Amino acid sequence: MTNEHPKFQNFPLDSRIQAAIAEMGYVTPTPIQVQAIPVVLAGRDVMGAAQTGTGKTAGYGLPSLQRILPKANPSMSPARHPVRVLILAPTRELADQVNENLVRYAAKTPLRVGVVYGGVDIKPQSEMLRKGVEVLTATPGRLLDHVEGRSVNLSQVEIVILDEADRMLDMGFLPDISRILNLLPAKRQNLMFSATFSPEIKKLAGNFLSSPVLIEVARENSTAETVQQVVYQVHDSEKTDVLIDMLKTGGPDNGPMKQVLVFVNAKITCRRLAGTLQRVGIKADAIHGDKSQDERTAALQAFKDGTCEVLVATDVAARGLDIAELPTVINFDVPFSAEDYVHRIGRTGRAGAKGLAVMFATGGDSRLVEAIEKLTRQKFNMQPLSPMSREERRARRGRSESESQDRRRTQWRDEDRQGRRPIDVPNAPKSVYDPIFDAPYEESEAPQTAPVEAVQRAADDRSGQRQKKKPRVSVLLGGFGRR
Ligand code: AMP
Repeated sequence: MTNEHPKFQNFPLDSRIQAAIAEMGYVTPTPIQVQAIPVVLAGRDVMGAAQTGTGKTAGYGLPSLQRILPKANPSMSPARHPVRVLILAPTRELADQVNENLVRYAAKTPLRVGVVYGGVDIKPQSEMLRKGVEVLTATPGRLLDHVEGRSVNLSQVEIVILDEADRMLDMGFLPDISRILNLLPAKRQNLMFSATFSPEIKKLAGNFLSSPVLIEVARENSTAETVQQVVYQVHDSEKTDVLIDMLKTGGPDNGPMKQVLVFVNAKITCRRLAGTLQRVGIKADAIHGDKSQDERTAALQAFKDGTCEVLVATDVAARGLDIAELPTVINFDVPFSAEDYVHRIGRTGRAGAKGLAVMFATGGDSRLVEAIEKLTRQKFNMQPLSPMSREERRARRGRSESESQDRRRTQWRDEDRQGRRPIDVPNAPKSVYDPIFDAPYEESEAPQTAPVEAVQRAADDRSGQRQKKKPRVSVLLGGFGRR
């Protein structure tokens, strides 16, 4: 399909699939769909370099359904519903999200679609598998549990898809993936999608794919052009205050920001930052690897329906979250891996929508920031945010920072490093608060800005009196505006 504005009707997809697409409100295929659908329909292997949010699920899902549709049947016999399409995904969230989409794409066909992942009761999954399912989405470990339990047979798989392959490698799934691939028929179609294109991914592609068609919707390791990226230089001790100001005042009409995904590097930061935000009246929740599946699902649902406005997440937990048109992503911590930056900000600016990606970088982060610049082939226009002096912070809090608080802070840092909670802090008052995470918030009188548009407004408005009234916030606004 080479015309400039292709429509779904142009694809040779069954009318039942077309009807499902129409019901979902899809009108125009996304670039990855334009490229992938004909290639997958033709039975070719594919290496897709595509970020989440590009519509890649339909890009591989629709043509895969089409290819197995001739074998679809209404029989009740499990034997007539073997797994024919297998999608491997790194996380429960992504597996769920992929499955949700596939269920809808296949809703008008007799094809059975299902999902299995760890962290939940295995029995209902086994029952579902035993009844037969043609399109199965799975996380690798749980799929192997089912293979061992003999609830699934993979000998009739015709199409296998590795979704977010880079993340699967990061998470150490390579041995599981190899075991699974060994259980599949040698003659099959292989599709692989990855947001980033590291040498390891290229190696996996070399082993897994046969004469693949390379599909790239954006430049290698690039970030979406619709995402405005802003990096603020902040002092470590300021991050929480700056974040709170931004969340409370950066939304439309100078109100609170809504649907903000805040990324942190450690589970403990995740928990504590969400707690701090809640204490200052921000509807926040945390999503990290220690949360149960039910808790994650509930947090995600609350975030989607707006009950929760700020979701603080670690990389693994946030992987694959499908939240349409997320306006803002804030990197509270600079990610340790540059590729995680691409993934993180891929949450916003989807399907052509405008997005804002903010990152707080401290002096110690410069090498990580450089690595991101190198990977994404850009130079950040770093916005200085002058460190608040100790006196300013004291005045802001209305209380002094005692020696013991400093000691406590050191303890917390050590705790973050070791990833565990200190049992006791010698000589520290029991009720002492943490200067980084528990700083009380005072309502700002400063003008507020909304992401993107307001960022521009702030640029034109930098000379206002507010800067005099509220020096710290005005520096923030000045920073916003300079991009
Ligand atoms: P994905 O990148 O597959 O996770 O898709 C991101 C989001 O875009 C999902 O909510 C899809 O349902 C949606 N989507 C995918 N393709 C289209 C399309 N052609 N038109 C509108 N929305 C789409």
